[in-house]
Amino acid sequence: MTDCLFCRMVAGEIPADVVHETDRVLAFRDINPQAPTHVLVIPKEHHRNLGALAAADGELLADVARAAHAVAVQEGLVTDGGIEPGYRVVTNTGPQAGQSVDHLHLHVLGGRGLGWPPG
Ligand code: 5GP
Ligand code: ZN
Repeated sequence: MTDCLFCRMVAGEIPADVVHETDRVLAFRDINPQAPTHVLVIPKEHHRNLGALAAADGELLADVARAAHAVAVQEGLVTDGGIEPGYRVVTNTGPQAGQSVDHLHLHVLGGRGLGWPPG
């Protein structure tokens, strides 16, 4: 998808501050961070949202989830196998949730206390 921002980042056409990469997944820092750690984890293949990816390729969805946890460990948000201090994973679907890029991405947030419920 040449008109998709995140596909263009995967293609190297737009710079990304990459923190983790596998053959199928890319993780990079959000340009407008909402917490000390704010990383976006995406499948390199274009899928428009969580439901679309879940329907199309459950193994890739699992890869994306594993990468989100690996980023949290790498960023010191938890130890591997532990839960302290903690992190949050968010994915927005649709306009009411505030989705602004139609390429599935998990937000990995941490490094401060995170309020609940979210806004
Ligand atoms: P959404 O609003 O769809 O849940 O999340 C999209 C995220 O992409 C936002 O947090 C926004 O800051 C981030 N974003 C938008 N454009 C860019 C960009 O060019 N580079 C990076 N690294 N993040 C971006
Ligand atoms: Zn895309």
